[in-house]
Formats: sequence, C-alpha cells, structure tokens
Amino acid sequence: MNTLPRFDTQEVFNQSPLYENIDLFSSDLPLQEAVMANGAGHEAPALAAFGRQWGTAEMFALARRANENPPKLYTFDPKGFRRDVVEFHPAYHDLMWASVAAGLHASTWTASGQRAAPPAEVARATRYYMAAQIESGHLCPITMTRAALGALGANPTLLAQVAPKVVTASYDPTFRPWWEKSGVTLGMGMTEKQGGTDVRANITTATPAGDSYAIVGHKWFLSAPMCDAFLVLAQGAGGLTCFFVPRFRPDGSVNALRLQRLKDKLGNRSNASSEIEFAGAFALRVGDEGAGVRTIIQMVQLTRLDCGLASAGFMRMALAQAVHHCRYRSVFQKHLYDQPMMRAVLADLALEVEGAVALIMRLARAFDRAASDPREAAYARLVTPAAKYWICKTAPSFIYEAMECLGGNGYVEESVLPRLYREAPVNAIWEGSGNVMCLDVLRALKRDKEAADLMGELARQASPMLGKDAALLEPTNEFAGEAAARITVGKLAAIAAVAALEVSAPPAVTEAFACTRLMQQHAALYGADGIEARTAETLLQRALPEA
Ligand SMILES: Cc1cc2nc3c(=O)[nH]c(=O)nc-3n(C[C@H](O)[C@H](O)[C@H](O)COP(=O)(O)OP(=O)(O)OC[C@H]3O[C@@H](n4cnc5c(N)ncnc54)[C@H](O)[C@@H]3O)c2cc1C
Repeated sequence: MNTLPRFDTQEVFNQSPLYENIDLFSSDLPLQEAVMANGAGHEAPALAAFGRQWGTAEMFALARRANENPPKLYTFDPKGFRRDVVEFHPAYHDLMWASVAAGLHASTWTASGQRAAPPAEVARATRYYMAAQIESGHLCPITMTRAALGALGANPTLLAQVAPKVVTASYDPTFRPWWEKSGVTLGMGMTEKQGGTDVRANITTATPAGDSYAIVGHKWFLSAPMCDAFLVLAQGAGGLTCFFVPRFRPDGSVNALRLQRLKDKLGNRSNASSEIEFAGAFALRVGDEGAGVRTIIQMVQLTRLDCGLASAGFMRMALAQAVHHCRYRSVFQKHLYDQPMMRAVLADLALEVEGAVALIMRLARAFDRAASDPREAAYARLVTPAAKYWICKTAPSFIYEAMECLGGNGYVEESVLPRLYREAPVNAIWEGSGNVMCLDVLRALKRDKEAADLMGELARQASPMLGKDAALLEPTNEFAGEAAARITVGKLAAIAAVAALEVSAPPAVTEAFACTRLMQQHAALYGADGIEARTAETLLQRALPEA
C-alpha cells in the first residue's frame, strides 16, 4: 500500500486567471471618458466591438507568435541572384490584416488624400491605443503608411495616384508593383550611419534622370522594408529633398533597393528594421528641392502622435495586468490588492495612465481640428513633442513597476510584461529622441506666436498649482534655455495633462494628478505620493472594474 502523502503539482491555486478575452474598451473607463470628451462618443459601440476583437485570447496568441518568430531577410536566391525580400511569420500578416481592415493605416484620410472629417483622428487613436496593448511591432508600417500621406500632399499628382491604393481596407503582402496591388503600405528612410537627428548631414544623393531621379546612397535604419514605397531624404542639387522610392520601377522591374541586413533589436521583434543601399534607385520628387525637412515633417508630426499613443497603450496593458493579478493573488492571508502599500503603488500607476490617456486623446482632437482652427494647430505644434517626450519616457519605468506587482510571474516571457518592457524604449528613441523633442518645443515657442501665447496661457492657468516652478514657464523667463528644457517640457506636459483631465475625468482624479505631478515634485518611485485612500479606490475601480 502507498503510504506517501498525495502530492499533485497540477493543483494550481493562488494564481490569477489569464488576462484575456476582455473588452479593451468597455473595461477602460478613463479611455471611454476621453473618447467622449474629445468628440467621438457616438463611436463607442464600434470601438467596443474593436476592443472585444483585439482582447481575445487569439489576438494575444498572434502577438506572442509574431514576436517569437521574427522576420528573416533573404538577400539572394539559391543561384545568387538578388532577392532583397523579408519573410514574416503568418501571425504578423494576420495582425496586419486586422489593423488594415480596421483602417488604422488610413482612416484619417479620404480616397483623394484629404483629411477625413472629425472625429476621425480621435476614433483612430482609440483603436490604435487598444491595438498597441496587444502587439506593437506590426504597428510600425501601419503608422508610417497613414503618416506618409501627410507628406505626399507636397506632390498632389502622386498623392492622387497613391491615396486610393492606401485607403482600401485590404492588406496585400504580395511582392508586386504598388499600382497592381489591392492595398499598399508606405515606409520612410531618413537615418544614415553618420546621424539620424541631424538629417541635413545626409550624404545620399539624388540625380535627375528625365522626369525622375536616381538615388545613390544608404540608410542605416529603414523599418518594414517590405512596404511598397518609401519616403526617402536625399541631397538634390537644391539641397535635402524628399523622394518617393517604390520597390518596383515603372516598367515593372524590381527597383535598386539592396537590403544589407536586418537589425538585431532589443524589442520590436515582430517588425523588420533593415540597413539598405540605393544603387541608382528610381525615385519621384515630393515637394521642392531643398524642402526635404519641411516636407517630411508633415509625416513625422503624425508618427510622433502614434509614439505617444502606443506608449500610453503599453502602460494601460501593464496597469491592467497588475491590477488584475493583485485582485486574485493573496499574500499573508490578504489579497495583494488590499495590502495598503500595494494599493498605493497601483493607484499611483493608475493615476499616471489617467494623465497619459487624457493628454494623448486631447492631442488627437487637436489633429482633428487643426486644419480649421489655428489655436488647435498651435496646440498640436506645441503639445505633440511634449506629450511624446513625457509619455514615451515614462513608459519603461512604469512597465517595470507594473511587472514587479506580478512578482516572478511578471518577469517570465509567457506573461505580456517582458515584451512590453522591451518594446517601450524605442518609442522615445525614434521619430525624435527625448532631447530632440524638448528642442522642438523650444523652437515652437520661438517661431510660432500662437504656440508661445498658448504656453503663456497654460502657465497662467496652472501657476497657483506650480508654485515657484511657474516662473519656468513664463515666456519672459529662461524657457528658451536648452539646459533647463527637460524641466520645462516635463511641466508643460503635466499642465496639458491636467487641462485635459479637467475636461474628461472626475475632479478627484484631476486634483490628485495636479497635486502629485504639478504642485509637488512627483516621487521618483510609484506609490510614494501619498494619494488618499478614497481617491485610490476611485482610481482602481476606474482602471479595471471588479469582476
Ligand atoms: C528599431 C528602430 C527602427 C527605426 N526605423 C527607422 C526608419 O524606418 N526610418 C528612419 O529613417 N529611421 C529609423 N530609425 C532611426 C531613428 O529614427 C534614429 O535612431 C533616431 O532619429 C535618432 O538618431 P540617431 O540614432 O542617429 O541618434 P543621434 O542623432 O546620434 O542622437 C543621439 C542622442 O543625442 C540626442 N541629441 C541629438 N541632438 C541633440 C542636441 N542638440 N542636444 C542634446 N541632445 C541631442 C538625441 O536625443 C539622442 O538621444 C529607427 C531606429 C530604431 C531604433
């Protein structure tokens, strides 16, 4: 007879159920309120359908598979002829299909390449925020495609040809000329070995060849190289110029884009980022010679919004995972969720996401209105770099803190947290790194009177809360000083977040955000702000309703 005590490791207890099969929209009250406050409330049922679709276990599994099976470059065929193609796992293509079908790559444009009517930006931003919670690598070509149309406006003839191909809800990954495809994606090439910030130092050249140009040179980073065409900066006779470089020449032959290798990256692994050479590649000019920066900035401004959206989405997913886990996990006979110190951490994390989502959705509204309202245009000009700076820089440490709420369960690959953590830094680095965003704010204040007036107004409104820091934001003060720019821009982002919360969130949340992020120095570590118990309860219920 077996006298050993029964020992069955299959009996699992004190673990949280998997956080999947959730409605990413309806479970997120701060998001719903921000959508309502920014003019897209009537889209709530459609946004909830998107939230349910993207929160399924199947989408989580696609995201895992797309990142476990990174893309591969095939430079040559077996006989030594150049191929220059990248192959992606089917899970990546499924994610692309889902995003394109929902219009994340184009829903803010009409078929003629004009801006779609409001609230197209807010509605798309909401979907993008939810998709980023699940998988962000594939969103790189999605972001670039929708943003590229902004710059293509500098060549109306080309825009009229390309836009109808972009705005279809069809994802077509076949390697064919763009004009033969049911849907196309667009990328960008600016960064060279010697510099990404200072693109004026680009050495790639563009030589006129009849109605087109021949591009010779390289790009050190060119993501999503299987896009159908790229907006590329190169030196023409008149200076740095923007070009449309398709994968195929007009005669149907493959264009001279030589993929050298793929980057081995910290995160963003489902997405391919290549090094590339142009060996006399066919190109069409977009905008005037010498106007390259002015032209491509139309694209970059849009990609910066997406960086903020994605990082806010990462924070939201990390927060939801942490709150969910702590509600089930008991330590010392009490749920972690009810341990006072853990509540303080979770509430502080929830408060950070409240500010981030309110700010980024308010910014999306400014993009909706900029064309018809100069004040909203000034808001977009001033707040885009500030929001990108603050949100993207906050995300990595935020995700780390959320990961710790799950203890060892959060550190292992099978949880979503490690992927979010690896993904987060890139949003601060590309599309203008942190310092560059701060310089951009200073530039807006110097050159754009509307932006400077708006800054003064925000500073005056916030001055009772800012105390001695108010002086930092006074237009007569040293805000133009580069050494202090991170302080100034951090404060600007916090002020803009408070103003956004005033419109979308309950007063208790706005007050808590203003007290902890404006009136006092925000604690270096989450949970050390002394958020009072009732507000903490409000924040946690808003973050994730209890099942
Ligand atoms: C995964 C990935 C994918 C990418 N995909 C693309 C792509 O598809 N297309 C593309 O064109 N590029 C792409 N990039 C490149 C990216 O845009 C650049 O890395 C970025 O613009 C920074 O340029 P850099 O790397 O040359 O850094 P640098 O320009 O050398 O800057 C280094 C640091 O110096 C700081 N800095 C710069 N100027 C100042 C200043 N005046 N004062 C203080 N600090 C300053 C910057 O903020 C930065 O932190 C990608 C990068 C990554 C990591």
